[in-house]
Amino acid sequence: LTSKLPNTATSIFTHMSQLALQHQAINLSQGFPDFDPSPRLISLVEQYLRTGPNQYAPMAGVRALREQISDKVATTVDVCYHPDTEITITAGATQALFTAMATLIRPGDEVILFEPAYDAYGPTVQVFGGIPKPVILRAPDFAIDWSVVAALITPQTRLIVINSPNNPTARVLSDTDYQQLIQLIRNTDCYVLSDEVYEHIVYDGVQRRSAAHYPSLRERAFVVASFGKLYHTTGWKVGYCLAPHELTAEFRKVHQFNVFSVNTPIQHALADFMKDAEAYLELGAFFQKKRDFLETALQETGFRPLPCQGTYFLVADYSAISRLPEKEFCETLTKQHGIATIPIAAFYHRDINQHLVRICFAKQEQTLQQAVERLLQVS
Ligand code: PMP
Ligand code: GLN
Repeated sequence: LTSKLPNTATSIFTHMSQLALQHQAINLSQGFPDFDPSPRLISLVEQYLRTGPNQYAPMAGVRALREQISDKVATTVDVCYHPDTEITITAGATQALFTAMATLIRPGDEVILFEPAYDAYGPTVQVFGGIPKPVILRAPDFAIDWSVVAALITPQTRLIVINSPNNPTARVLSDTDYQQLIQLIRNTDCYVLSDEVYEHIVYDGVQRRSAAHYPSLRERAFVVASFGKLYHTTGWKVGYCLAPHELTAEFRKVHQFNVFSVNTPIQHALADFMKDAEAYLELGAFFQKKRDFLETALQETGFRPLPCQGTYFLVADYSAISRLPEKEFCETLTKQHGIATIPIAAFYHRDINQHLVRICFAKQEQTLQQAVERLLQVS
């Protein structure tokens, strides 16, 4: 077999989580909470498992859930997506990303990505015969030079992938960034895939924008989100994709043969739970306490935290402690100090070493406290 992904190995998240387990390290690598979702949400799932429906959901997703999502987007972004024709429930954001790319990308199409990039983007582009065109962003601010992006646009450019709040940089795109993007694609056939899974996890009153907010982006964008991040349920793998009517119609043609539909009782439980907006509107404040704790505690260590505007990841510079390349440093940190993190180098397609690690702080206070005690020992 000739591999479609010759340069892709087991994901860094799996690798580091396994290493953490092997060495009984505190796992601040793969992004997931170490606490439970709301008991009310769990009891809603239990209730629907008992009473049903337990058979196939409609292909596009349970309607009550699509209605709730439509209401949420109307309230938080002030834009309307029709539940019948513009919202599709997916098996996590991952399947939404995969299906959107399957819908758009033909062999030879070019896709602009910003690196550091979430690990799924590049390989998914390649599975469909597309050519990733990475734009390299660097620490400390990971700012986008839009003239570099403009120079990459060709008649073959099919798609630009954006992710804000960003995993792993913890940065949020500004209004100016979106305006530049709008200018750039104005006279092209280029679409936008906007990964917004951390949409409600933003700090310090930073205003996060959705691609859906801008009419000229909305008409060309697939906006992807995840209940894994919204309700601390990464293991449930339920997400959704917003896209205008014509794009959704094409998306669903692929979706119906990709998964057809996703977990029915969980969709019903989510629909009921979403009636109360408080849970997701409080996410920023909830995680900000954890971010502040970690940021402050790191000041006492050799790690220098970079600004964190959103997501539950914090990037830290360890150059005062070690000159080891990032992957080696992360492995040593796991094995010798019992703390697993993710090397930022893993999010670039070529060898770029900035002495940075990504730390996941979606953890209980005691986990973070214990982690900080261990980080204080690293020198
Ligand atoms: N995009 C980004 C930026 C993510 O961080 C993640 C997962 N952490 C996903 C997509 C995938 O989300 P899901 O688990 O819902 O598939
Ligand atoms: N998105 C999670 C992270 O960034 C990992 C998900 C996965 O393991 N694929 O850590």
